[in-house]
Amino acid sequence: MTATPALDLDASAAALEGQSALEILTWAARFAPRITFATGFGAEGCVVIDLIARHRLPIDLFTLDTGVLFPETYALWRQLEARYGVTIRAVRPAQSIDEQAAAHGPALWAREPDRCCELRKLGPLRAQLAGFDAWITAIRRDQTADRANAKIVEPDRKFGLIKINPLAAWTHKDVWRHIVTHEVPYNPLHDQGYPSIGCAPCTSPVGEGEDPRAGRWRGTGKTECGLHVLPVVRE
Ligand code: SF4
Repeated sequence: MTATPALDLDASAAALEGQSALEILTWAARFAPRITFATGFGAEGCVVIDLIARHRLPIDLFTLDTGVLFPETYALWRQLEARYGVTIRAVRPAQSIDEQAAAHGPALWAREPDRCCELRKLGPLRAQLAGFDAWITAIRRDQTADRANAKIVEPDRKFGLIKINPLAAWTHKDVWRHIVTHEVPYNPLHDQGYPSIGCAPCTSPVGEGEDPRAGRWRGTGKTECGLHVLPVVRE
């Protein structure tokens, strides 16, 4: 990490707590050009893209294109780029789906989802983040127990850079209020029973009263792809 060595992250996190997401993102832009936002095109991610793009913040944008995203997600990607006049870079795994199937067998996600996530998400993310000093995420504290202690800004020991979570204190309602108010494009699957959307083979609709992330890796015991979980906790 080569970011400002004198920066006291705890003090910064305390100072930024209670500030708006735009104020936090504006603060984060101090790391430009070595700051990026990795979006998975969830509702929260669309909010962050809206804020970055409408306010012309100099923050890089990319997504992990695993090759098995929903058609609706690919369409949203193009819609966001057209709406805001930005480029959301594609970061892809070394192997195509067919190449992975040849090397590891078909539908690796159904047999070894952790290995599949390592090959298609974590490995490419690790390589990508090596070129940055700070990254922004769209996680909210109330999404999962693993995310409950997220600070506005904190060291990311897993990937070795600074992590900024501008929506950490937001609620589900805050997200959708922003989307409606600012007419932010979002994935139509959210209106069809998919509150949390990842790769198509690993995402199913959620029933009434179920946890919003219950449709991710359903039946496997897996709850995170590992992007926002410290190794000591889950790996
Ligand atoms: S979410 Fe599923 S398909 Fe996507 S990388 Fe992880 S295991 Fe593979």
